[in-house]
Amino acid sequence: MYGVNRALVAQRSSGGHLKVYAQFRAPLDRQATATPADVETVRSGLLALFDGWADPVLDLLRRGTAFVRRPLHVLPVSHTWPHVRGVTLLGDAAHLMPPLGAGANLALLEGAELAEAVVAGPADPDDAVRAFEERMWARAGRWAQLTTAGLERLVSADPAEALALFDQVQPS
Ligand SMILES: Cc1cc2nc3c(=O)[nH]c(=O)nc-3n(C[C@H](O)[C@H](O)[C@H](O)COP(=O)(O)OP(=O)(O)OC[C@H]3O[C@@H](n4cnc5c(N)ncnc54)[C@H](O)[C@@H]3O)c2cc1C
Repeated sequence: MYGVNRALVAQRSSGGHLKVYAQFRAPLDRQATATPADVETVRSGLLALFDGWADPVLDLLRRGTAFVRRPLHVLPVSHTWPHVRGVTLLGDAAHLMPPLGAGANLALLEGAELAEAVVAGPADPDDAVRAFEERMWARAGRWAQLTTAGLERLVSADPAEALALFDQVQPS
């Protein structure tokens, strides 16, 4: 559910649990984790933030038992580095981006690709690593661009933008 500069996203988890993401823009210096004693303070702050939303939606916040703050950090889009012989990075360490469904998939794919490149590649494994890095940077750059633009629209002044985002074609 998307509103002006805020959203509530519910995800069904195992064991009959529901994980609810309250997404909004805020200064980074807020307290990292709410202790049980803070739960009611956090809850009332969130209820104020989503004031006016439908009752069944607000129930997701009223019935919450634990609240954790998860600030989103990202690396710059199309981040690269000078190659260092004998070492490389992949996954979030190489291209941390907004969590819009790409990061774990990229990390798994890159692990497999790097292993294949080293096993099947040239006599000097470092040449295989260099070639792998070039491919990874190009693909991750496209995803970082897409997810960064997506995050802007998912928490935006125009909620219709968020819904339109889901109709867009995604890059390979
Ligand atoms: C809310 C949220 C939702 C997401 N949803 C999706 C999704 O739907 N689909 C998707 O594809 N991706 C999703 N992602 C992104 C995905 O979780 C990450 O991109 C992915 O986990 C990156 O994998 P990784 O192995 O590179 O890094 P990580 O999963 O961060 O693994 C790194 C590991 O290294 C360990 N570590 C760190 N420092 C050290 C050290 N010094 N010594 C030893 N160990 C260390 C850490 O504890 C961690 O276990 C989501 C992310 C978030 C935050």
